[in-house]
Amino acid sequence: MGALGRIHNFGGGPAVLPLEVVTEVAESLPNMNGSGVGVMEVSHRSSVFQEVIDSAMDRMRRILAIPEDYEILFLQGGATTQFYMTALNLMSQNGMADFLVTGIWAKKALAEANRIGDGNAVWDGSDNDFKTVPNDGDYSIREDAAYLHYTSNNTLFGTQFHHLPDSGGKPRVVDASSDICGAPLDVSEHDLIYAGAQKNLGPSGVTVVILSPWAASRRKEGLPTMMDYHIHLSKRSMLNTPNTYGIFVLDRMLSWVERNGGLEGAIQRNKVKSEMLYSVLDGSEFWSPHAEEGSRSMMNVTWNLAEESLEPTFLAEATENEMGGLKGHRYIGGIRASLYNGCPVESVEALASFMTGFESRHG
Ligand SMILES: *Cc1c(COP(=O)(O)O)cnc(C)c1O
Repeated sequence: MGALGRIHNFGGGPAVLPLEVVTEVAESLPNMNGSGVGVMEVSHRSSVFQEVIDSAMDRMRRILAIPEDYEILFLQGGATTQFYMTALNLMSQNGMADFLVTGIWAKKALAEANRIGDGNAVWDGSDNDFKTVPNDGDYSIREDAAYLHYTSNNTLFGTQFHHLPDSGGKPRVVDASSDICGAPLDVSEHDLIYAGAQKNLGPSGVTVVILSPWAASRRKEGLPTMMDYHIHLSKRSMLNTPNTYGIFVLDRMLSWVERNGGLEGAIQRNKVKSEMLYSVLDGSEFWSPHAEEGSRSMMNVTWNLAEESLEPTFLAEATENEMGGLKGHRYIGGIRASLYNGCPVESVEALASFMTGFESRHG
């Protein structure tokens, strides 16, 4: 067992956090930052919490080099709420938006946009089991589309964009839930970025939204209060009670990212971790990786065993070896190792070595 009986956790989200962060959070439960009030008991209107939210926003801005004229929100409702909210705020009524459908999350985002206007899949990878993301030139954006929506990392299928997708000169909206602050992201090339925190950045219940001046100015009258970016911006993410605890953990996690080499450090570690697994998977016919080379994710590595009947044995032996969260998403099955920012390199070394041993015993 690891420290405190913790296993190697490869879960897809909520996901493992660095033990250092978990310990800091534990210490803040009875008394946060010496305020005499516990982190779950502190008023969101207090100065001690205001410092926490300001700090989290400043860190986010530094880590991602967010331009000064961009805005940051910490909302609730997860990325799933953003599927609808982005379309509601950014599409004109009965307007158009184009989508790169690279997985289930993209499909869901498109379905929600279709409640507002005319959302269109300009590219759809379903026929190829979502094994790749598109290249520029594989699709074209409609003249009247308000924006292009894409998913930077496809959590279930284990694919990821390694280039900035061509948007035909239109604004880009990206669901970066599973690779934010863990993969390259040029904020200035996007108009709206959203991400649930529970994969790379902390606990569930906090959603990061980053808006360009264009996105922040797409004002529509009469939207439901909670669905209106403008109102959230004017209240500085405190329209109603925010997830104070979640924002505290987010700030601690961002501080950890900053202490460990910032975005560049996170990218390097995620590269090392994923390459470790891909090299085992490519090493023999025993394994059958899902994503095609060129589209492979650094965050979620997905595969099958060539002999699929061995998969339950693989998962059972992994459990015996104190490795968890490896069962593929119920939608695609197989095996998935999620290697988000909080996942230590040592966990991935342990998994790679377990896999090599498993192959020699069962191959
Ligand atoms: C996990 C995930 C979601 C769903 O997030 P919720 O916070 O549960 O709504 C959406 N998009 C992507 C890419 C994800 O990985």
